Amino acid sequence: MSGLLGAHEIREIATRIGVNPTKKLGQNFVVDANTCRRIVKSADVLDTDIALEIGPGLGSLTLALLESAARVVAIEIDPRLAAELPATAERHGFDASLLEVITADAMNLEALDPAPTVLVANLPYNVSVPVLLRAFEKLPSLRAGVVMVQSEVADRLVAKPGTKNYGSPSVKANWWGTLISAGNVSRSIFWPVPNVDSSLVRFDRHEVPGDEALRRKTFALIEGAFAQRRKMLRGALSELLGPSASAIIESAGVDPTVRGEALVLADYIRIAQAQ
Ligand code: SAM
Repeated sequence: MSGLLGAHEIREIATRIGVNPTKKLGQNFVVDANTCRRIVKSADVLDTDIALEIGPGLGSLTLALLESAARVVAIEIDPRLAAELPATAERHGFDASLLEVITADAMNLEALDPAPTVLVANLPYNVSVPVLLRAFEKLPSLRAGVVMVQSEVADRLVAKPGTKNYGSPSVKANWWGTLISAGNVSRSIFWPVPNVDSSLVRFDRHEVPGDEALRRKTFALIEGAFAQRRKMLRGALSELLGPSASAIIESAGVDPTVRGEALVLADYIRIAQAQ
């Protein structure tokens, strides 16, 4: 059998291996081959790339990745899905030795060998932001990627300062890369059909602006500022910065009476450095 997975086969495999998609694990499988090819294309996957997929499920996107990448590493939490994946790849004419399936929780992701160069995933929705930030942190080899997330989450990830969607994920993600919207995906291409819309987000890595100690300090400030986002910065950060909060913020060239949502990552970094 050649080509990618179709809707009929996806249901057939799920029935055969006894998988009844659960909401808890965000199991909404893509049943449209064109969408899978579109996602891989929007990530500009090269034939030299080692692609990382988080949550391969029944393999819709995995097979599209095997068409383009040199190797695919897939991390799946559900052991029944993980076990079936190599057989699905082989049945579709792919070399299963180019696919490594790791049965694990991506929330515990650590460095991988070989190091993946591109991330392409339809992320499990309940953990999409922490998993994405963890992948950025633990896998510096990732040069780019495209992830599918709930549209609301995509809006937050790509939000600009001063907008209502701008929050801690938007600022933190910028430590590692630039994120842009890569389009919407119709809910009709999933099985089961989810009750939320989905969107694609593309990221391209840039050089990180500092070492790990600076990143931790900066992230603590971002978390503090957005935990009380209606407060002025000097109030929201008073616990972290102590009685001289205003002076520290000012010495970083930031107005302590603005809210955290007005600041870009570079502002938080300067406050961290002024501490
Ligand atoms: N990539 C497949 C597709 O597009 O059809 C499935 C995507 S589905 C939205 C999310 C997948 O992530 C499911 O297969 C689910 O079992 C898996 N998953 C859920 N939580 C996970 C976690 N913490 N770590 C790794 N995989 C997880």
